[in-house]
Formats: sequence, C-alpha cells, structure tokens
Amino acid sequence: MSFSTPILLVIAMLAILTIGRIINSPQAPGRTGFALAAVASIWWIAMVVLRLNSDDLPDKILFSRLAWFGIVAVSLFWSAGLLDHAGYGQVTRRLPIAIILVITALAGFGALTDSYHHWLYSGIVNEERPSFSYGWLFYALLCGMYLCMLLACLMTIFRLRRVGRLHRYQLVALLVATCVPWMCNAAFVLFEFRLFNDDPTPFAFSATVLAILVAQYRGKLFIAPPVARDIIFSVLPDPVVVLEPSGLILEINPAAEKLTGFGVDKVGTKLSPSHPLMIFISENLPSGSAKPMVHFESMNMVFEVSAQPLEQWDRRDSVLLVLRDVTAREAAEKSLSDTGKALKLRLEENLRLQEKLERQAFEDHLTGLFNRRHASSTMPPVLANAREDAPVSLIIVDLDYFKQVNDRYGHDVGDKVLQAFARILSGSLQAGEMAFRYGGEEFLIVLPGAGRDQALERCSLWRQELAALTIVELKDDKLSFSAGIAFAPEAGASLTECTKAADIALYRAKISGRNTDVVWGEHLGGMSLDGSTDYRNAVERRTRRAWV
Ligand code: GH3
Ligand code: MG
Ligand code: MG
Repeated sequence: MSFSTPILLVIAMLAILTIGRIINSPQAPGRTGFALAAVASIWWIAMVVLRLNSDDLPDKILFSRLAWFGIVAVSLFWSAGLLDHAGYGQVTRRLPIAIILVITALAGFGALTDSYHHWLYSGIVNEERPSFSYGWLFYALLCGMYLCMLLACLMTIFRLRRVGRLHRYQLVALLVATCVPWMCNAAFVLFEFRLFNDDPTPFAFSATVLAILVAQYRGKLFIAPPVARDIIFSVLPDPVVVLEPSGLILEINPAAEKLTGFGVDKVGTKLSPSHPLMIFISENLPSGSAKPMVHFESMNMVFEVSAQPLEQWDRRDSVLLVLRDVTAREAAEKSLSDTGKALKLRLEENLRLQEKLERQAFEDHLTGLFNRRHASSTMPPVLANAREDAPVSLIIVDLDYFKQVNDRYGHDVGDKVLQAFARILSGSLQAGEMAFRYGGEEFLIVLPGAGRDQALERCSLWRQELAALTIVELKDDKLSFSAGIAFAPEAGASLTECTKAADIALYRAKISGRNTDVVWGEHLGGMSLDGSTDYRNAVERRTRRAWV
C-alpha cells in the first residue's frame, strides 16, 4: 500500500463526516449542491485509492476512467452549490440537477469507452501512475469544468458586496474551499505539479472539507443561511418601485401595486409625466440626506421616499424607490402643530388680558391717568426721599363748578372735559412727574424737585390750556380750576399729611373765589393742621376719604 492511500482515506472519512454534517443541517441554499459534490469527491478519492493499490495496468486505467464520474460531478455540483448559496437559487432546482447528472453520466460513459475512441486519453505516457497524453474530450471536459467553477466564483464575488457580515464570511470560506483544489488541479494539468507523485486535486479536497467544517462551526454555514433575500421584495409592506429615466416601470412589489398609477399590468409601461414619483428620476433626483415627501392626492396619502440609483445592469440612471406611508404621522404632526398654534393664541390672549387687568389695577379707565390706589403704593418712597433743598410738590387740582357742566350739558360732556384735562396734564409731565385721578373731578399731580415757583408756573400753564380748550358742546362757557399746593417734607413725609395740606390749600382757593392756586401755609391766616380755625371741620370732612 502506497504512502498516499491512508491520507486519501482520511480525506474520504472527512468528506463522509462533512456529508453527515450537511445532511443534519437545516435546509439551506447550497446544501444539496455541496452534499452531492461531497459524494462525488468521495467517489473520486475512492477511485484514486483503488488505482494506487492496483498492480495491473488495465485495472489502473479502468479506475482512472471511472474517476471521471466523480471529477465531472464534483466540479458541477460544487459550482451549483456555490451559486445557490450566493443567491442564484435556480441552479439547484430539479432540472439543473438532472442536467448535471446527465452530463456526468455522458462524461463517465465517454471515459469508460475511451479504449474504442481515445478521445479522452490518446496514449499512455507513464505506465507506473499511469499518466496519459490527452485527447480532445479531456480538454473539452476540463474547459467546461474550469469555466463552471470560474463563473460560479465570479458571480459569488459579485454578490459579496451586497450580503451581510456573517453571510460574507460564509461565502469567502466557500470560495477558499472552491479555489484550493481547482488551482491544484490546474497546476497539475498545466504545469505537471504533483503531490506524492500524483494528481494533487484529491488531496486538496482536505482543504475544501476543512473550510466547510470551519464555516459550519464558526460561520454557521447552513445554520444561519441567507434564505429570506428573495422574498423580502415581495413581502415588504412598503411599496418598492424601480423606474427608468424615461418613466418606464421596470419592477414593483405587491405593496406598490395599490399605488395610483401602478398595478400588475403597469410593469413595462410608462408613468404619466405628472405622476408625483416622476420627480425622482434622472437629473431630477432630489439630493441630500433628508427623505423627500410625496403626496398622493387621489389616495390622500403621504409617503416618505428613499431613492437609490441602480448602477448595475447598465441602467445607470434607473432608480429604486422605497416608499414609507407617513400619512398618520403627518396628520398627527399637523394636529400637534395646530394645537400648538391654538395654544399659543390662547396664551397670547391670556397675556393680553393679564396685562389689561394689571393696567386696570393702577389705571383710571376714563382718563387713562394713574388711579388713586396707585398713588398710595408709589408715592411713599418718592416723598421719603424729599429734602428741604429738593422738595416734592403735591398739587390737588379741582375743576370749578363742574357739577354745573354735568347739569347743563350732560354727563357725557362732563366726561369729555375730564378726559381733555387729563390729556393736558399727561402731555405736560416730565420725567419722574406723575398725575393721578384723585376723585371725581379732582387730580393729584406730583412734581419731584419742583419748588413753589415751578409748581405755580405749571398750574398757570394748565389753567391757560384748560381755558383755551374747545369743546363744541360747551359753547362759550370757559373752564377753570382751583389748586392747592403743598410740599414734602415741609408739609410732612407721608402721603396722608401732604395731601391733607394740599387739600386745605385747595379749600382756601375755593373759598377765595375759585380759579386760583393756594400754597399751603400761605394766606391761611392762622389756619394750621392742628385745626383751630373755622375751616378745619369743613376740610376734615373733605379729607376723610379713605386711601385704598
Ligand atoms: P366746586 O367749584 O366747588 O368744585 O364745584 P363743583 O360743582 O365742581 O363741585 P362738586 O363736588 O359739588 O361737584 C363735583 C361733580 O363732579 C359732582 C359729580 O356729578 C361730578 N362728577 C364726579 N365724577 C364724575 C365723572 O366721572 N364724570 C362726570 N361727568 N362727572 C363727575
Ligand atoms: Mg370736587
Ligand atoms: Mg369742583
């Protein structure tokens, strides 16, 4: 027994083990092809072993010829298995398998009948091995097998880019398993490369078997195969459409058949130029990472579209479109945005109302001046800061005979007069000065930093403006006011003390004939805040008003 026989027997055992593993694996692409290739390789090895252990030349020649059943079958079935696993499932259907079996049978028959025609071996070169000179059938079979293997390898390499990591690992392992023995075979045929003085191909099957086993253990070959690829397109719930630049529909999945402008019978026809998806073809393809939206108005649906240019099949400008229905999402977003807008409006309205309420809290609604309540909250700090050399003037102005205006011309005309006088006051105010509506037709004006002369000057100006006021309804009646003026800190440091003093002065102005200004402390003829004069009771009645 030669040295190479045990090696070949071990390889045969490994091949049997591989077949066992393959048979025990779940159904997977390539499984049938590889299992049949493994069986064929065992046949080939068995014939080599028998040849090596035969002494007679006719027996050796017979086993060499019988080996061709295995040689042809192993290459064709292996190619089929590789293509099947790479995603070309058609090659392991019944018909291709039957064709491979027929070719194998014909090649084997050709080899067995070689002594009659010598198409395979034209002569014996070395009787020991034996080695032969080759006929045309040998080269034809060799070319056919090499072409099959080469094609399978190239198609597999082409698929490598498109598969996931694990499946790429599996395909690479299978490519290694394919290339090692056939490169050895080519080296033997073309360059007389020998192993143990023989054809190295059967020995190289050990690499194939090992690659398969490693791919099974490490790469989950046949355990996690890429089985769903072919059906993904048809079961995808998102519509998928393939369009040519002319608008010709190349392919659609069942989900896309429901779209307007599409349908089973529409494949091979052109989309109308106004179809919403026409914007995605050729140079119109929207760029950028954001997925554009397309509105199918007739279906009242909105789709988000991912566009993928098709570079293969020489259809460079064709495009694959995957549509995602975002109608519900868009509607939800719109409703959310509408709600947001409504809320914003409500919020703005509330803010306006709040501002109005705040303004009303310190504003007199008729004249727009500050109200009396505001005086009690803003004046104390102003008065507290008053000094002898920087006094604060407080002037209480009361319109003269205002009741008569109301009585003669009506309340509305009275209101007009109040508003007009308020405008005169507010129009004359300078920084830091404030005017309040103090009572019905009474106003409190505070002039920080103003002394006696400035206060009288301001009163004189207001009087002139009031006299010059033209209110049609008043005809020729002239308006006037009386004013009482007091100063902080002279009259006191509190609002109550100061307004009381100004009120006393006002009262004096009234009783001195009206249309005049009286400064507290002047022309009072002994009248004091302690009150021992005739005026006291009258003044107290007037100043008993509660400050809010
Ligand atoms: P005197 O010169 O002494 O001040 O006389 P008078 O008529 O101005 O004084 P009196 O206090 O008797 O009258 C004030 C009037 O002001 C009484 C009231 O009807 C009127 N009045 C008070 N508030 C308003 C208002 O908001 N609008 C109008 N039109 N009249 C008002
Ligand atoms: Mg009054
Ligand atoms: Mg009055």
